[in-house]
Amino acid sequence: MTYTISLITGDGIGPELSDSVCDIFETIHDKLGLHLNLTRLEAGDTALKHTGYALPDDTMNKIKHSDACLKAPVGESAADVIVVLRQQLDLYANIRPAKSYPFVPAIYNDVDLVIVRENTEDLYVGKEFFLGPTSADIGNIVVGKNNNDNNSTANSTTNAAVALRIISERASRRIAKHAFEMAMLRNKKVTCVHKSNVMRVTDGLFAKACADVGSSYPDVTLEQMYVDACAMNLVKQPQMFDVILTTNLFGDILSDESSQIVGGLGVAASSNVGDNFALFEPVHGAAFDIAGKNIANPVSFILSAKLMLDWLGRKHNDTKCFDVGDLLTSTIQHVIRDGGGTLDVGGNSTTTEFTRKIISKLLNA
Ligand code: ATP
Repeated sequence: MTYTISLITGDGIGPELSDSVCDIFETIHDKLGLHLNLTRLEAGDTALKHTGYALPDDTMNKIKHSDACLKAPVGESAADVIVVLRQQLDLYANIRPAKSYPFVPAIYNDVDLVIVRENTEDLYVGKEFFLGPTSADIGNIVVGKNNNDNNSTANSTTNAAVALRIISERASRRIAKHAFEMAMLRNKKVTCVHKSNVMRVTDGLFAKACADVGSSYPDVTLEQMYVDACAMNLVKQPQMFDVILTTNLFGDILSDESSQIVGGLGVAASSNVGDNFALFEPVHGAAFDIAGKNIANPVSFILSAKLMLDWLGRKHNDTKCFDVGDLLTSTIQHVIRDGGGTLDVGGNSTTTEFTRKIISKLLNA
């Protein structure tokens, strides 16, 4: 079976990670007979400079006609790329596993949790407005009022901005279903994370929808937790978690935190999944501070490709995808165990040296 994969090469360290993955998949093609036809596409800061658009139509069309998308990190224009892709392709579930890998130096070595983050709503819908003096009566909001100013009216508004936080029952229920289905295949525990004691309407709706969906899964334990307590417990006792189910912004923040306790952003992969299509990307950003230095860890992108293989395998009932994905994971572990990892995981290999070591192990597999 041949799969057409759209590959967004991205900005910053994105092109280096993309080269690594392309080289590895060439070997997989030649040696293991899994045919992945990777089509390199532009999106992000570089595309914006070249075409005037962060997400050119041509890129979008090619993604839509591919079997899956692999996306390297994008720079300053990230919101115009990934947020738009998630919304237009309805990739409503963002799955971010945090799993300890043997030999990767980490704060904990016995963590295995996954964050299931709602991916289409919340503050990320991008509905932000300035409140000028002429719109002073919006919701009777009094912002920036100078108490010493006797001339200011009760609802005067200056130099203020608001953002809409949208949480719908439909989106909450479908992400909850995704989380509970996942928990059924794991350790049967879902922790629903929100801040419903403060955001009673939006997070109240989210918590209730998740509890309603959870009632159809009597074998799964459902726990409710405020986001601040969750952030603390991720540092203090991350072993208590199996599946964390949460809203968009909280999931974004908690997943950076959870990746840190199992070895850092260099090994953190994620999936953006809809009913018919999926996109896979590292959790981290374009890391401009290390771009072009040949020291970026490509594991985050290789493991994103492994998540893609698992998804393709399930969708097409193709065991070859699972086998190659497992082989990739064990090969990465062996190379890191032998001291061949990049700097951030305690090794001294450059990006290209690490990639060569992976390829050489695959060739001898
Ligand atoms: P964003 O907000 O887009 O997620 P950010 O500002 O949080 O981006 P990142 O680009 O995610 O920053 O990177 C944070 C730091 O983590 C970088 O400065 C870099 O040192 C490190 N880092 C990120 N990715 C990698 C990687 N693949 N290999 C090694 N170090 C990395």
